[in-house]
Amino acid sequence: MIVCDFCGEVRACLQKEIDGKEYDVCSNCWKALAEKLSGKGRVKKNREAVLLPPPLVVKEPEGEEPKPRPGEPPKIWGTAPPN
Ligand SMILES: [Zn+2]
Repeated sequence: MIVCDFCGEVRACLQKEIDGKEYDVCSNCWKALAEKLSGKGRVKKNREAVLLPPPLVVKEPEGEEPKPRPGEPPKIWGTAPPN
């Protein structure tokens, strides 16, 4: 276990390099930090960006049929159009 550099508590920490320095950050603090930083800052071209944890991907339920987009007529599969 490592002492978190942010909250000072002994926790399972991740080692993160921020601005050329290494920090031990617990997942709690890292989450808070990522939330604080989200939408801020600018893209630096010549330096390695701080890697934020990937956003939670909400998985769509499988087996769902694709819905027709608004404005498009629904497609009917396997049946001939009525005359
Ligand atoms: Zn912490």
